[in-house]
Amino acid sequence: MKLTDIGTVKALMGENAFKKQFGQNFLISEQVPRRIAESGAAKGTLEIGPGIGTLTRELCERAEKVVAVEIDTSLLPILETTLADFDNVKVIHNDIMKVDIPALLEEEFAGFDEVAVCANLPYYITSPVLMKLLESKAPFKSITVMVQKEVATRLTASAGSETYGALTASVSYYASVKKLFDVPAGCFMPKPKVDSAVVKLSLYEKPPVDCKESTLFKVIKGAFAQRRKTLVNSLSTVISHIPKSTLAAIIVSCGYPETTRGETLDINAFAKIANAIDAYQA
Ligand code: SAM
Repeated sequence: MKLTDIGTVKALMGENAFKKQFGQNFLISEQVPRRIAESGAAKGTLEIGPGIGTLTRELCERAEKVVAVEIDTSLLPILETTLADFDNVKVIHNDIMKVDIPALLEEEFAGFDEVAVCANLPYYITSPVLMKLLESKAPFKSITVMVQKEVATRLTASAGSETYGALTASVSYYASVKKLFDVPAGCFMPKPKVDSAVVKLSLYEKPPVDCKESTLFKVIKGAFAQRRKTLVNSLSTVISHIPKSTLAAIIVSCGYPETTRGETLDINAFAKIANAIDAYQA
C-alpha cells in the first residue's frame, strides 16, 4: 500500500474529514518521510501524530521499536491496517501534551541505549510540544521534526537577528539545532497555507552553561517580555522584586551596556546574568 498516493489517502480516510483542530496535513511525498526517518530514527523511536502511518512505516523499517502517540480516535482503525505488516510498533491513543514523557520512556524503551523523537508535528502546538519534550529531561538523543518554515528560521536564528527570540534561546539550553531541508506546501494533503522545513535538535548530555535553571528561564522570559525595550526595562517586568537600578548595575557588572537589548544576547550571556542575579540574591 502506497500511503503517499492521493487516492490511497482518500480511500483510507473514507468518511473522515481532515481535522483542522488537530493540524492534520498528511504527507503525500515519498521522499520526505523517508528522509526524516533516515535522519532521525534511532533504535527506540517515539513518533508524535502518526496520522495514517506514512512516516511511521518508514520509522518501523529503521528502528527496533516505534511508539506512536495519536490523539485522533478515528485514525486508530486506519493505523491498524496500514501498520499491520510491522510487529515493532505500538500506537498509543493520547494527547502528547498529557503524556508523562519520562514514564513513557521507562515503560516502552527500558534497556534501549538510544531513543529519538521523529514527527511531522501538528503546527498548532509545535512550541509547547518541543518545550515539553526538552523540559521533561528525558534522555532523547535527538528530536527530528517538521515545523513551519518560519519556526525553523526562529529555531536556528543567531542572537541579534530579527527572528531570534525566547524559543530560540530556551531551546539552545537543551540542544543544538540544524535545519535539514525545506518542504513545500504541495507535499501535504490537504495543502497547508505555509511552507515547512525539517529541523533536527541534537540534545546535549550536559547543559552548555552552568547556572540555576529557574533563574535562567526567568531571565530569558524577562528579556523577551517587551521586545522593543532595553533588557533592564523588559527584565524588570518579570523580576520585579529587584529595583531597576540594581538590575541595571547587575547587567553592567556582567559586561553589557545598560542600553543592551535582550534579543542581542545568547545563552552564555543569559547564564552570566542569571548567575549575577543569584549572587545578588544570596
Ligand atoms: N505523521 C502524519 C504524516 O506525516 O502524514 C500526520 C502528520 S499531521 C501534520 C499531525 C498529526 O498529529 C495528526 O495525525 C493529528 O491527529 C496528530 N495530533 C494532533 N495533535 C496531537 C496531540 N496533541 N497529540 C498527539 N497527536 C496529535
